[in-house]
Amino acid sequence: MSSFDVAVIGSGPGGYVAAIRCAQLGMKTAIIEKYSTLGGTCLNVGCIPSKALLDSSHHYEDALKHFETHGIEITGEITPNLEKMISRKQAVVDQTTQGINFLMDKNKITVFEGLGSFQDATHIKISKADGTAEVIEAKNTIVATGSKPANLPFINLDKERIITSTEALKLKEIPKHLIVIGGGVIGLELGQVYKRLGAEVTIVEYMDRIIPTMDAGLSKELGRVLKKQKFKLNVSHQVNSVERVGDEVIVKATDKKGREVEIKGDYCLVAVGRTPYTEGLNAEAAGVKLDDRGRIETNNHLQTATTNIYAIGDVVKGAMLAHKAEEEGVMVAEILAGEKPHIDYNLIPGVVYTWPEVAAVGKTEEELKEAGVAYKSGQFAMRALGRARASMNIEGFVKILADKNTDEILGVHMIGARAADMIAEAVTAMEFRASAEDISRISHAHPTFTEAIKEAALAATGDRALHA
Ligand code: FAD
Ligand code: NAD
Repeated sequence: MSSFDVAVIGSGPGGYVAAIRCAQLGMKTAIIEKYSTLGGTCLNVGCIPSKALLDSSHHYEDALKHFETHGIEITGEITPNLEKMISRKQAVVDQTTQGINFLMDKNKITVFEGLGSFQDATHIKISKADGTAEVIEAKNTIVATGSKPANLPFINLDKERIITSTEALKLKEIPKHLIVIGGGVIGLELGQVYKRLGAEVTIVEYMDRIIPTMDAGLSKELGRVLKKQKFKLNVSHQVNSVERVGDEVIVKATDKKGREVEIKGDYCLVAVGRTPYTEGLNAEAAGVKLDDRGRIETNNHLQTATTNIYAIGDVVKGAMLAHKAEEEGVMVAEILAGEKPHIDYNLIPGVVYTWPEVAAVGKTEEELKEAGVAYKSGQFAMRALGRARASMNIEGFVKILADKNTDEILGVHMIGARAADMIAEAVTAMEFRASAEDISRISHAHPTFTEAIKEAALAATGDRALHA
C-alpha cells in the first residue's frame, strides 16, 4: 500500500493548489480526482469556460453593434457560430487542465484517478472507472470535493431544455428565449452570453433585486444597464413550477402582488446556487461531520472533528469562489507544515463578469448600517473619465465606504469596464488598512479606469473629486 504525508481529495482550485503548496513544503503528496481531467468545477465547467464564452460573445456583440461607430466597416453578414465558440471554449479548457497535469508532475505529486472514499481516518479507497480499487494510507487528508448545482425540489432537470450551468456551457443552438431562474452570478453571466448571441433572456429572481448579496447600489446600476440591454428582469418572483412540453419550457411564478405569471421559453437555466458535494466520500467512516446545510464542519483552522482531516473550498462554509478555495488550500498546507497562516475573509473580493463588470470587497452599505458603523461614502461615475469616453464604456461607478472617524476604507464597490481587474487595488489598500485619503494621494496613470478609484477616494475625503 502506498502511503503519503498528505492526500488531497478533489482537484479543483482548492485541491490542486493545496497539493502544490504541500509538495513545496516537502510533504509527500497525493491527489485523488474522480474525473479524468484535473481542475474541478472551476477549470472544467465553471470559471474558465464561462469566461471563454463571455469573451467570445463580447467580441461578437462588439462586431455587431460597436465596430461601425469606431469606423470599422464589415461588408457582409456577421453571424455567431455557436459550435465554433463552444469548441474554442473546450480548447481553452483542455489547455488549462493539461497545465494542471504539468504542475502535478513538476511538483512530484502522485495523481490517482478515481472516487476517493474514507475507510477510516488514515485510509482512503480509490475506486476507478474500470471497476478496480486501490487503498492508500495518508497521515493527513485535505477534503476539497467542491460543490454541484443546486435545484428546487419541484424542478425536473432534464439537462436538455431544463438545464444547469454545466449544460449551458455546451448548448447546440442559441436559445430563442432563455428563462433563467436566479438573478445571481451564474444566471447573469450565462444569461449575458446568450443575450449577446441573440436570445431573449428573462431572469426570474426570488429576492427584490438581482445580485442580492452585493451592495444595493451595484444591483440597481447593473439592473439599469441590463434593462437597457433588453434583459427582462422579474424580481420578487417566486417560482412555483417549471414544465417541459415538447420543445417548450413553461415557468410559472407568483409576483410580489400575488399574481400568477406564466413565462414560456425554449430553455430554462436553473441557477439558484450550489450545494456542497460529499457523495461517495464516506465521511462518517472517518468521523468527519457535516453541518445542517451538508457542508463539512470545520474549526477556524479548517480542521474537521477528526484532527488529521481538513476541508477547504466549496465543501465548507463561506463564499463559493475559486480564489477563496485557493487561499484555504495554501492555509491548510502551511498549517500542516507548522506555520501560522491567516485568511481575512472580509477581504476576499467578489466579481461578476458581466459587461459592465461588477466587483466588490469589504462591507456593503447595508452591512455597515446594520452593524451601526458610522461611515462616509464617496462615489465617482465612470462617464466622467477620459478613458471611459475614449472606449465608450461609460456605464458604472466606483464607491468607497470609509470609517467616518478614522477614514479607514471599509468597503469598495465598483461597476464598469475592467472592474474585475481594478478591484485588486482596493483589496491591496484594505490589506494594508489604508485610509481613503491614502488612495486619494496615490498617483494613478492617466487615462485609465483606475482614476475612478482615486476620484471616489477624493469624494470620500470631503467631496474633493476633481473631475465630478
Ligand atoms: P471544485 O472546483 O468543485 O472541485 C472539486 C473536485 O473534487 C471536482 O473535480 C470533483 O470531481 C472532485 N471530487 C468530488 N468528490 C470526489 C471524491 N470523492 N473523490 C475524488 N474526487 C472527488 N468562482 C470564481 O472565483 N470566479 C469565477 O469566475 C467563477 N465562475 C464560475 C462559473 C460557473 C458556471 C460555476 C459553476 C462556478 C464558478 N465559480 C467561480 C465557482 C468556482 O468554480 C468554485 O468556487 C470552485 O471551483 C471551488 O473549488 P473547489 O476546489 O472547492 O471545488
Ligand atoms: P448565487 O447565490 O450567486 O445566485 C443564486 C440566485 O438565485 C440568488 O440571487 C438567489 O436569490 C436566487 N434564488 C434562490 N432560490 C430561488 C428561487 N426559488 N427562485 C428564484 N430565485 C432564486 O448562485 P449561482 O449564481 O447559482 O452561483 C453559484 C455559486 O458559484 C455562487 O456561490 C458563486 O459565488 C459561484 N460563482 C461565482 C462566479 C464569479 O465569481 N464570477 C461566477 C459563477 C458562479
